Amino acid sequence: MSDCIFCRIVAGELPCRKVYEDEDVYAFHDIRPAAPVHFMIIPKRHIASLAEAGPADAAVLGKILALAGRLAREQGLEEGFRTIINTGRIGCQEVYHLHVHILGGPEPLGGML
Ligand code: C5P
Repeated sequence: MSDCIFCRIVAGELPCRKVYEDEDVYAFHDIRPAAPVHFMIIPKRHIASLAEAGPADAAVLGKILALAGRLAREQGLEEGFRTIINTGRIGCQEVYHLHVHILGGPEPLGGML
């Protein structure tokens, strides 16, 4: 059994509110939402972080970004959303399985960026 929480979610060993799944990619709502809509898109294959990603990961990373708009619209984010990828200790990454946060809601999201 993997000790990676997100690998275990992909394997169905831990519950989640699934948004989307295909052969390469999985998406699910964040358990601690930081916006009215907050979900994550992840590669099914374990990649620890963006710092560890390389040329072999280009296709799945492109697929994740190319899916973001469609999944966001399906979750009601018609007017835009924020994407965040936290990387490593300095990037405040908590779960070491690469994930793209998608956040949005009815009002513009505040914050420094
Ligand atoms: O980008 P970072 O690693 O900091 O964020 C990890 C995210 O994974 C957190 O927002 C946390 O709420 C979420 N999480 C989750 N389900 C889990 C464990 C963590 O949605 N079982």
